Amino acid sequence: MMNHFKPVKIGIIGVGHLGKFHLQQIHEINSADLQGIYDQDHQNAEDIGKAQGVHVFDTLDELLATCDAVSIVTPTTTHHEVASQALKNGCHVFIEKPITKTVVEARELLKLAEENRLIIQVGHIEQFNPAFLAISNMDHAPQFIECHRLAPFSPRGTDVPVVLDLMIHDIGIILSMVDSPIQEVRASGVKVVSDTADIANARIEFKNGCVANLTSSRISQKKMRKLRFFQHNAYTTVDFLLGVVETYHVTDHAPSLGEDEMSFKLDGHHEKYVIYKKPVVEPQNALRLELAHFIESIQHQKSPVVDGHSATEALDLAIRIQNIIDASY
Ligand code: NAD
Repeated sequence: MMNHFKPVKIGIIGVGHLGKFHLQQIHEINSADLQGIYDQDHQNAEDIGKAQGVHVFDTLDELLATCDAVSIVTPTTTHHEVASQALKNGCHVFIEKPITKTVVEARELLKLAEENRLIIQVGHIEQFNPAFLAISNMDHAPQFIECHRLAPFSPRGTDVPVVLDLMIHDIGIILSMVDSPIQEVRASGVKVVSDTADIANARIEFKNGCVANLTSSRISQKKMRKLRFFQHNAYTTVDFLLGVVETYHVTDHAPSLGEDEMSFKLDGHHEKYVIYKKPVVEPQNALRLELAHFIESIQHQKSPVVDGHSATEALDLAIRIQNIIDASY
């Protein structure tokens, strides 16, 4: 589709591990006009700028003066300071997850964005995972949700507990799926190799009766990123890693099947059939989709899917879970 808007002038702040991928993807988005990069580590910025043929700004102020929007890919502890400066200079901000280290900091950013009529989008990338997008237009009312997010150990990210590093992805996902206030939270975690919890489990009970059980580990032998949810007459599984979705629906009648559906009869006294479906998941780059959505939100002046408010709610719940774990040591 033709886009009649002027390309958005964007800069990248922080070109470490993830910032390099932002650079790669922003290059591919026609509606983004990449102005350059800035990194506190000037040598790193120079090396990347030279290799990628991208302008390197000497100071953050110079980058902010040139851009309409920025992508902030610096360590979480710096998000508040860098994003505040960007918002005060009139730039829309994309901030990598989690939005900030504390809810107070996040609320300050929300206020600044509102006062300056600017957009905040936060990098809860799984909400742009093609497997999750494949279920987004299905009707669901989950009553039980199970999430597993397991990763092998890497020193990267161990500056924050596994809840803020990994579980926050699933927290964002479940809050986007369950439209009900939280009733109760239970949690436990263990510091196996780091100074903060490396493995954690949380049980979140919502007022509407839905229960979510989340397990996250950064000391696993194998990787796993799975969401499974159950509701009356239906079970759905989403594999974020493999990009696979499977749905099972129970029906009382011999079903007439769509092209990509199969059915089998349940054993037992009652006539029940299960319709199995494996929807096609188009492979797409989630980071590109997420950054393109940011640009589009700016151009159309609309609130992005993961705005500052929903990211703050996710952070609030993550910190609540973390506080329960900390109190148990
Ligand atoms: P990193 O340490 O590899 O890179 C951070 C870069 O920021 C470094 O080059 C550093 O020199 C630079 N930097 C630090 N402070 C700065 C400042 N004040 N101004 C400018 N540059 C500064 O870290 P990373 O792994 O790329 O993580 C960056 C952020 O991305 C973190 O918030 C992390 O939680 C998030 N992250 C998100 C995902 C995801 O799945 N969405 C995955 C990995 C990391």
